[in-house]
Amino acid sequence: MNQLSDNPYLLLTPGPLSTSPTVRQAMMKDWCTWDDEYNALVQSIRSRLVDLALPEHPECFDQYTSVLMQGSGSASVESVIGSVIPTDGKLLVLANGHYGQRIGQMAGVLNIDSYVWDFGESGAIDLPELDAFLAVHQEFTHVAVVHCETTTGRLNPLERIAPIVKRHQCEFIVDAMSSFGGVRIDVASLGIDYLISSANKCIQGVPGFGFIIANKTKLAACEGVARSVSLDLFGQWQGMEQGNGKWRFTSPTHTVRAFDQALSELAQEGGVAARHQRYSNNHYVLVEGMRALGFETLLEDEAQSPFITTFFNPSHSDYDFKRFYTRLKEAGFVIYPGKVSDADCFRIGNIGHVFPEDMARLISAIEQNCYWNAPSSEQKQLEHKQLETA
Ligand SMILES: *Cc1c(COP(=O)(O)O)cnc(C)c1O
Repeated sequence: MNQLSDNPYLLLTPGPLSTSPTVRQAMMKDWCTWDDEYNALVQSIRSRLVDLALPEHPECFDQYTSVLMQGSGSASVESVIGSVIPTDGKLLVLANGHYGQRIGQMAGVLNIDSYVWDFGESGAIDLPELDAFLAVHQEFTHVAVVHCETTTGRLNPLERIAPIVKRHQCEFIVDAMSSFGGVRIDVASLGIDYLISSANKCIQGVPGFGFIIANKTKLAACEGVARSVSLDLFGQWQGMEQGNGKWRFTSPTHTVRAFDQALSELAQEGGVAARHQRYSNNHYVLVEGMRALGFETLLEDEAQSPFITTFFNPSHSDYDFKRFYTRLKEAGFVIYPGKVSDADCFRIGNIGHVFPEDMARLISAIEQNCYWNAPSSEQKQLEHKQLETA
């Protein structure tokens, strides 16, 4: 156990992530899923999520709704993709990483007419090209993009993508899984029609469900569109509306309780602005420290989110990621392997119940475990002895 927490190690991954002891404590009871008290809690969560999505336009509250959906984050993404694009619609996916590609894969399996525009795993979305493309290809009805592409940590600029999507009258779908709650996003100003995130990312809950913030007018037009029963977004919405917070199927009650606590803790911290500041501080300590140790980041600073960072693996022949990973885990930190196919790298997340002091401790642990740079102390002693005997 690491001495600063009741957990065996700190998760420095993009979710599931380290949660507070009080969030975990909220799961220690068995809760009823059908009664009024529970339903009221669900309704309160739904309305707090809409509040979080409208920092600049609270007056638009009645135009948006939120729907909670069982499963991992991908289930919520799949629920949107499968429920909102009609048979005569066409989806454009702007992809620069694994999660964008996954949206394209979902559309493919669901037989949805789609095109995945691949900007490369470490590439930026070309905005003038996008504008020109949509002007010519008017058959596209929906555009999907990942906000923070967790593959690399790149933050795609929603404020520049949104006006292009809206200019061409497309509905806008945003996978904000690893960013929502950790950075200000105003769905009304951006004209986002469907924003997807999950319990176990920046809101700092535990895994078990995701949620969708939806434009009510758009969602209301989706009756009968879904290609799945359990992932029918319209159906889930109607179920929650008519049942005042009732889930259609067994809800992840413990996770929902923990999420309620996590939302309260987000408010106590000072809301999204304060959380963003903490994550930015974490990120700063991480990147400065890593650079001082000779590590290099994959992305240029301007494109980098404050949530997860990709570092190149050292090129030293004695370096081995698995060994590095295991040593850090023993020291109390779990880092994350890389996912970029054309670059040799690993990732470190800094979201969750994690603070700048933790990042500073991580940096010293890394410094002590750069075994490939310096001979180990035993080796040094051995060499010393050899010198003495010589
Ligand atoms: C975490 C994440 C998801 C969802 O992943 P699950 O493993 O299904 O929870 C989707 N998109 C992005 C960008 C993510 O970071």
